[in-house]
Amino acid sequence: MTLLEIATILAARDGKPEPTNGEDFAAYNIPMFAGCQYCGETLAVYNAHPQHNGYVSCKQCSRAPFVDMEEWEARQELEASAHDSTQEEAHDDDNYVHLR
Ligand SMILES: [Zn+2]
Repeated sequence: MTLLEIATILAARDGKPEPTNGEDFAAYNIPMFAGCQYCGETLAVYNAHPQHNGYVSCKQCSRAPFVDMEEWEARQELEASAHDSTQEEAHDDDNYVHLR
């Protein structure tokens, strides 16, 4: 799945139209632009594929993408519960996309 697909599904659940600008995506903690973890290519929501390791990558480099919303949301819940019990981890890497 791409970040755009995820944001579109989340927006639809809220009864909103397809997100189109930074503000729309920010509402779901989704950045409009990111860099591929592996090759460094600049990605926008439509070609950014979030990976299970928390980073995003382009389609070519994608190794462990989320295949559906169920998988995506299971990961979000896992992260949320991890954050309840531990201090927020500091990620110095700008390309780390912390999605909730
Ligand atoms: Zn890449």
